[in-house]
Parts: sequence; structure tokens; C-alpha cells
Amino acid sequence: MRYSFRRRLLHLFFPTRCPVCGQIIGAEERFCGECTDSLSGYSGSFHIEGAAGFTAAFDYDDSIKPAIYLLKNGTDGNAAYALGGALADRLKAEGTAKDADIIVPAPMYRRDVFRRGFNQSVLIAKEMSRILGIPADTKAVVKTRNTKAQKELDRLSRSVNLKGAFAAVPDRVRGKRILLVDDICTTGSTLRELTAVLIDSGAASVYCACCCKTPSNNKKTSV
Ligand SMILES: [Zn+2]
Repeated sequence: MRYSFRRRLLHLFFPTRCPVCGQIIGAEERFCGECTDSLSGYSGSFHIEGAAGFTAAFDYDDSIKPAIYLLKNGTDGNAAYALGGALADRLKAEGTAKDADIIVPAPMYRRDVFRRGFNQSVLIAKEMSRILGIPADTKAVVKTRNTKAQKELDRLSRSVNLKGAFAAVPDRVRGKRILLVDDICTTGSTLRELTAVLIDSGAASVYCACCCKTPSNNKKTSV
């Protein structure tokens, strides 16, 4: 209730906008009606090696792109609310990951967080935490070194690029069922590497969830 009141109050001064088209919407709405109709719910069957499951809220296409842009650039507070909320609803509807002990956002290298001012996956995790009632642990896994931007690399190089780039804190993950969240999943390299690191550090299971999944013709494997 308090959260709802705060959103409504903020809305008076900074009207909530649809993170896709910019139209002013209700204080607690995520997208406008038109954009809601145009967004494509995730329809794939992607698999992350080592993970208990994978799901996403949306297929990554031109309809959702503006919201992801705003999320990453931090110019619209409603993007994390809308995307995190949509992903939490998806998980609820699927009935998956409801037994998760903690939500863990995909980490960014500290210098990158400093440059950007925030980690968008943390914003999503916090929104999901609020809806799902599962605590978010933003310190369970860290990125220990800088890596090249994944989008500049091919499939194989993406995996090599991330080797040894993450470290989990065993005391925070041991025996835990983890809901691992990220904004976009392309080849799955990041989630696969993070899953391996979390399992190696004693996590009981890892379920992966992303706001968007890019189209993939490789449904059974994730490289
Ligand atoms: Zn809209």
C-alpha cells in the first residue's frame, strides 16, 4: 500500500510514461494499452546448460526495444517497473521459480556501474522482489574483471570472454534455490557462465529469467 501511495504521489510531479511510446499512463500501469497489445510475449523454448529452467517476459523485437533502451540509459524510471513487473508476472503465471530463496541480478563490473550510475539488472531484481516476495541479493555474485562487450563478439568468443569473470560468495549462495535475472539474453553465454559459478559455489539450483530473449534458431543449446 505504501509503495502504491508513493507511486501515485510521484506521478503528480513526474507523470508515469509508457516506456515504449512515451504516452502518459496511470501511476501503476506498465505500458499503455496500445503498446501492451503490440508487445510479443516470449514464445521460445530456450535452455541454459546447468540451469533448472529459463524464461523471459518478451521476445526481443522492435516493439520492446525503446523500453530496453530507456532501462539501460536510466532516463525513465518506469522502464524497470514495467519490465521487472512483466517478468515477475510471467514467472507467477508459469508457476516456476516460486520456491526460489533469493533473486540474484546479473552483476556488472564495478567501474561500469560507476560509469552508468546503476546496474539495470539490480533495478529489475528489486522490482521482482517486491512483487514475488523473494529477497534480492545484489552481492551474491560479482563481476571481478572487465570484459569486452558481448555484442561485439561471435558465439564462441562470448563464452571465452566471460571465463573467470564472475565470482560467487559461497556463504550467500550455498544451498539456495536461486532466481537469476538479467535484462536481455542473446546467446545465453552470460547466464550459462553465472549459473556454473553459482552451482560451483554450492547453490542448490539456478533458474534463469530475462526481460527479453532475442530470436534464436538454436533452441536446445546455449553457447
Ligand atoms: Zn505505449
